[in-house]
Amino acid sequence: MQNALVPTAAPLRYVCLPSCAALVTKQIQGYCGTGVAYCTDPDCQWQFGTCDSSTTPAGPSTLNDPRPLLGSVSYDNDIIDCTQQNVVALTYDDGPYLYTNQLLDTLKQFGFHATFFMTGNNLGKGPIDTTAPYPTIIQRMIAEGHQVASHTWSHYSLSNITSDERKQQMVKNERAIANIIGKYPTYMRPPYSQCNAASGCQADMKALGYHRVYFDLDSQDYLNPLPTQIHASFDIVASLLANPAAYDYLSIQHDIVQQSVTNFSSYYFGLIQAKGWKGVTAGEYLGDAPANWYRTPGAAASTSTPISLSTSLSTTTTAKTSTTSSSPSIKPSTSVSVPTAIPTCIVKAGQFCGTILPFGDKLDCQKSAASCYAQSSNCEDAVSKKDRLHCNKYKADCARLTKYCSTCGFQCSSPEFLKSWWKDKSGLIGLGGEIGERRTWIWLLAGFFGHCWGNR
Ligand SMILES: [Zn+2]
Repeated sequence: MQNALVPTAAPLRYVCLPSCAALVTKQIQGYCGTGVAYCTDPDCQWQFGTCDSSTTPAGPSTLNDPRPLLGSVSYDNDIIDCTQQNVVALTYDDGPYLYTNQLLDTLKQFGFHATFFMTGNNLGKGPIDTTAPYPTIIQRMIAEGHQVASHTWSHYSLSNITSDERKQQMVKNERAIANIIGKYPTYMRPPYSQCNAASGCQADMKALGYHRVYFDLDSQDYLNPLPTQIHASFDIVASLLANPAAYDYLSIQHDIVQQSVTNFSSYYFGLIQAKGWKGVTAGEYLGDAPANWYRTPGAAASTSTPISLSTSLSTTTTAKTSTTSSSPSIKPSTSVSVPTAIPTCIVKAGQFCGTILPFGDKLDCQKSAASCYAQSSNCEDAVSKKDRLHCNKYKADCARLTKYCSTCGFQCSSPEFLKSWWKDKSGLIGLGGEIGERRTWIWLLAGFFGHCWGNR
């Protein structure tokens, strides 16, 4: 997730000068400029200019490193759940950032370990291997038993870029991480949870030797970043941990959300501890030995095939549009149908009817998302306390729409959004609000057997 710091405004996708000046299409007007607002990924359009992530870490590329598939955890399936007892796999996306050191303090206090799915250079934070204090923080993670994993170099949707660009997104992050800790990860989480089979992303991640890790508990800290909002995340985890039938969770948070670190984490860890459970890394949760969590740059191996780029990369590649014209990868494929029109009420609770306005281009998409957030802020006033979960569901849908608007290129439309929306819902994003839906349970069972028993 990104743009977590400004949840009530639809993010704009900026074009960074100098090369955008000549572009005069409707979608581009007003979006050209320089500086942090325009040139930081993931919202900067690198096709037309220079973004913060346009740097390359020092040192030899890892692109052609041997990549044997280490351990017995699946490299084929999306990992969303497993069979461990009495643990929560604590995972943090989008860091390291200003608050990560404090999070490490809190984890230490509880004796818990976490997995950090890190971005290498976006949000204007600078490359992680050359910008203080990030190298020190990442070395501390390793020294204190945490797991370092990849969330790509600059947080693009991996389903919406080319195979070569995807590989660069992974390889640049590998080089930067190896520059700090001497090795790079075998675990990754796709930004926006987007890495479908149709785009070739899943095959590319396997070729690069990555486990694709998702989650089955979304604390929604990115939707509740203000001191007045974060209690909603408290309620989500309290409710899920109180479920007597639960035996483990694979949980997602964001260490770029200040309240998640300074306020939510000690509450959450306290709940886990009070239940007699503990917080562990994704690797521990999957029963995977720490030796399998990383590779060494340039390491020789006999059972691997080097990968290569199919074409040379250019910083002025043609503009890409969303890949949503291809079939979304919906699982299980036989039990989900894609709706053809947006329902009048995306979420209905008491007198509240949360709508998503139809749209036909990027600007309309952003207006629709802004309308969604504006309605969601009224939701809690309009419903009884027990119906608040519906407000969270609606906010999660607003967030999905916002993400769609920021990644859909210039061809944003309601029908294309519906496809991705439905896929997200059936793909367990925002599980906390949807755990009662039958479709989710079908998915859970498929994940349970598919990931942990059939493919270990
Ligand atoms: Zn993210």
